[in-house]
Amino acid sequence: MSGTSPKTALDALQIWHPFTRAGVDPAPLRISRAEGAWLVTEDGRRILDGISSWWVNLHGHAHPRIAEAVAAQAKILEHVLLAGFVHEPAERLAEELRRVAPAPLEHIFFSDNGSTAVEVALKMALQYWRNTDRKGGRAEKSEIIALEHGYHGDTAGAMSVSEDSAFTEAFAPMRFPVHRAHTAYCYRCPVGLKRESCNIECADSLEKILRERGEKIAAVIVEPLLQGAGGMIVHPVEFLQRVRALTAKYDVLLIADEVLTGFGRCGTMFACELAGVTPDLMCLSKGLTGGFLPMGATLATSRIHDAFTGVDPARTFWHGHSYTGNPLACAAAVASLEIFHTEPVFERINAIAAIHSERLPRLANLAAVGDTRQIGSVAAIELRADDVGYLSALRPKLYRFFLERDVLLRPLGNVIYVLPPYCIEGNDLHHVYDVIEEAIQSIM
Ligand code: PLP
Repeated sequence: MSGTSPKTALDALQIWHPFTRAGVDPAPLRISRAEGAWLVTEDGRRILDGISSWWVNLHGHAHPRIAEAVAAQAKILEHVLLAGFVHEPAERLAEELRRVAPAPLEHIFFSDNGSTAVEVALKMALQYWRNTDRKGGRAEKSEIIALEHGYHGDTAGAMSVSEDSAFTEAFAPMRFPVHRAHTAYCYRCPVGLKRESCNIECADSLEKILRERGEKIAAVIVEPLLQGAGGMIVHPVEFLQRVRALTAKYDVLLIADEVLTGFGRCGTMFACELAGVTPDLMCLSKGLTGGFLPMGATLATSRIHDAFTGVDPARTFWHGHSYTGNPLACAAAVASLEIFHTEPVFERINAIAAIHSERLPRLANLAAVGDTRQIGSVAAIELRADDVGYLSALRPKLYRFFLERDVLLRPLGNVIYVLPPYCIEGNDLHHVYDVIEEAIQSIM
């Protein structure tokens, strides 16, 4: 091939793939169908989806109930704008979300994906203070605090509150400045303590910013209990509880980005429940439609919503997307939420969690393993490496190793994680662990 890239299906198709180095990364596999936890290639190869296709799938691929709901809806009403109009699927979904979400989050704004759900929350937070300033003459609160290792998406606002990284470097001029507080990364404790004896001192850095600038801060944004793309970092519940207590103390809004953690991933419907915390704004996407269609939702309390009402046009939330509240996506989401009532979804999640708990201690004993973490249906294995982070040289080696064994896992650099659809069979999940063990022993 001397010096030229191999001709890949990627070149041939002219599809520009996400997070992919064309001509460097392996050519994409052509998937013709999928069922349960399995993806099937054109030539009949079956690949176990160990990451729920980027964390979106909940109940299995091509779940008949969701497929039927989308098909039935497509025959009646495929789309209508949501400004000045409404439809039954949107109303039903709003009702379902209000039923499952923490009670005060009763207003729902639809958008298209996780990034837009975050953009909406950030814009609502900023405008909330502007709208209330007009009434009360309060000093302008317009700054945001985000956490180290956070990831909230790739649009400009979501990228601004995400951690500085190789992925955001080229876009520095597009990113607005944010304050960055420590996170609860116990394995690499930012304040050098041990979890067994700490008092969540990592949250002191958030308190310091709030003490010094609380008057200027509009909101704190967090991925509650589990920071996903930053390395599947699991926080003690006390960290989130302290974040909530501090935001309340300094009269700052709390945005919970549950784009990954929502819909059962952490063992409860929403991660915030595990800490008994209710945020002011909550961002949802990924599992919202059971992995069928793109959709985002930002949930807000009445305190936020009511600040946007009134005849003054400056109080209106001037934001929307063409496909906001798309009926097909709403129908998929309603069907997915119904599956929570009709199938033993939380039993499946608990069964996955039990296998994680059984298999992780054995991996933790391997010399190459620095840390293992688990929350609900998500498990992570952090490998020791000189080049930690997403661009670790281990990532492509591990990815290839897994795929050659027909297991789809996409390590976050030196962190291998397992985040399967809830329908995965126990023996298939054990197989994923066997392959991980083999990978660590042969690659490290
Ligand atoms: N927020 C979190 C916590 C995420 O993990 C992601 C994506 O991985 C996003 C937001 C962005 O979602 P999307 O890729 O749908 O824009």
